[in-house]
Amino acid sequence: MNNPDNKTPTRARFAPSPTGSLHIGNARTALFNDLFAKKTRGTLILRLEDTDLERSSAAFEREILESLKWLGIAWNEGPDRGGPAGPYRQTEREKTYREMAEALVEKGMAYRCYCTEESLEERRKAQLAKGLPPGYDGRCRHLSPEERADFERRGVPFTLRFRVPAEESVAFTDAIHGDIRFMSDSITDFILIRSNGMASYNWAVVVDDSAMGVTHVIRGDDHISNTPKQLLLYRALGRTPPRYAHHPLILGLDGKRLSKRHGATAVSQFRREGYLPQAIVFYLVGLGGIVPSDGPLLRPEEIVKAFDLSGISKGAAIFDHKKLLWINGRFIRELPMATLYHHLSPFLKNWGVMNAFDQEKQEAIIACGRDNAQLLTDFKVIFDIFLTKPDAGSAFAGEGEKDISRGILEIFAESCQETETLDEQGYISAAKAAMKRSNQRGKRFFMTLRRALTGMEHGPELTNIIPILGKEEVVSRLNHALEQL
Ligand code: GLU
Repeated sequence: MNNPDNKTPTRARFAPSPTGSLHIGNARTALFNDLFAKKTRGTLILRLEDTDLERSSAAFEREILESLKWLGIAWNEGPDRGGPAGPYRQTEREKTYREMAEALVEKGMAYRCYCTEESLEERRKAQLAKGLPPGYDGRCRHLSPEERADFERRGVPFTLRFRVPAEESVAFTDAIHGDIRFMSDSITDFILIRSNGMASYNWAVVVDDSAMGVTHVIRGDDHISNTPKQLLLYRALGRTPPRYAHHPLILGLDGKRLSKRHGATAVSQFRREGYLPQAIVFYLVGLGGIVPSDGPLLRPEEIVKAFDLSGISKGAAIFDHKKLLWINGRFIRELPMATLYHHLSPFLKNWGVMNAFDQEKQEAIIACGRDNAQLLTDFKVIFDIFLTKPDAGSAFAGEGEKDISRGILEIFAESCQETETLDEQGYISAAKAAMKRSNQRGKRFFMTLRRALTGMEHGPELTNIIPILGKEEVVSRLNHALEQL
């Protein structure tokens, strides 16, 4: 099973820790795993790495799953859907980690370490003071049987540490970074099981990836330094390791790791701010160099087709919120109406639009506003045009102006009354007739109508707005504005 060659079906996994919201960088890792599984017609596993009991929470877990689903990431096995390699939550696998670590102790490949946190910290400081690299100094590796027996008799809490073999070369070929080699001497004996009985990250990952038959580990390159430790553990267990692909992390425009300082980082926040999942996915794949982000927008199946693990660029991925915003605007303009409507629905509910207009009218308003929107939240002002009669009075200038505006509005109202239906054509002829009669045209004429009908100076074309408002409402708004003038 765990012998990756081209004939073995691939098994990838995304393994978030539920200690925070889904960060856009982790979303990219999830996306690469998802695309890889889809491209190779393999399996995607979702595993929750919740061994940090203090920081993990059920609320973060729910949010992560929700964000992944929203992005269209589809796992085949996971805590919510089960599968043959479960359980998929690490806190439910503790017994296995302990038993397997004990088995390494039996074989002399791991040992009990009784050093306290305080003592370790003191020794670490001393190492640093001497200019030495910090790391476990091997004190409990060399305990005599008597010393060991003494610790046991006193019931001193212990961790289980891996006995890192000396002078072993650990090499692997990373699908993105190429050949990477470490010497085991640069690694000090590290913890497998903590004194509270919980497994360490490196141990749990190896036990799980191995037990779950993972063939490919795709993760951020901040984990490259963990890989040699994990490879040594595979050797100790006598199991074949998976293949690795470490992708570069996402940085802000200033070259620093993307954080809240740069703007939104949590997928849920992008969602609340009115981004479309399609835009985020397209942008994240573009950041990896898989598709040109200013090229044509791609459908999900086209992205899968274009995806190639070894094609992910080695360079840092610089996240530019402005570029994502621009891409979002492109998706708003180009997505099929049904898809756009689906993503707008939660916002529409919040704005009280659902009860005010039937779906046909809502879609007409969306169509009217999509050229002017970059975020889904930008549709709020567009819907407001139709929801509320504008307070037009304040939008008109000085006394002289007012007379001219009054003339334009009165004459246009008359032309509208004379028009049978105020559809696009009806509006154009009413406007032409009113321009002739009022002897006003161009900017002044149209700006006066716009202010009276929308209360704003900018917005969608009047040819789009007026047919949706309809004759009755247009005349009523014109009269309303005239009363205020
Ligand atoms: N829980 C780890 C993380 O979120 C997973 C790392 C891995 O993929 O091995 O960084």
